[in-house]
Amino acid sequence: MTHIHNERLNAYIDQQLSEQEEIEIETHLYQCDTCSDQYLLLLEAEDIGASVSDQFTDDVIAKINRQLVQTNYISSQTNHRKQTIKHFWLAAGLTIVFTLTGLFQGMINMTTEQDFQERGSITAHLLDKSNDFFNHIKGGRHE
Ligand SMILES: [Zn+2]
Repeated sequence: MTHIHNERLNAYIDQQLSEQEEIEIETHLYQCDTCSDQYLLLLEAEDIGASVSDQFTDDVIAKINRQLVQTNYISSQTNHRKQTIKHFWLAAGLTIVFTLTGLFQGMINMTTEQDFQERGSITAHLLDKSNDFFNHIKGGRHE
C-alpha cells in the first residue's frame, strides 16, 4: 500500500484537491492507521499554525535560545567535573600527608569518639522506650 504524502494530506486539509482526489484520500485514511495518524498530526499543526501569534513565535525562539544556553551550561559543568576530579587527587595527596604527620589519626579518633557518644545516646533512648513499654504493661495490669 502506498501511503499518502504529507504534501497531499496538507492539500487535502486545505481543501485544494479535486473531489475525486479527496475521495481517494478519505478511502485510504479509513484503511490506514499510519496515514490517519499523520493526518491528525497535520490537522493539529494546521490548527496551531492558524492561531499562531507573533508572541508564540517569539516564545519558541526564546525557548530554543534557553536550550542552547543550557547545553552550554552542561558542557561547562563537564569541565567543572574534570576540575573536581583534579581536586579529589589533590585531597587524596593531602590525606597521605596528614596520615604521615599523624594529624589524620587524630581526626579519626575524634570521629570514632563522636560515634560512640551517638550510639550511647541511641541505646539510652531505646532503654527509655522499653521502660515506657514495661510501665505501660504494668499500668495495664493495675487497671
Ligand atoms: Zn497509508
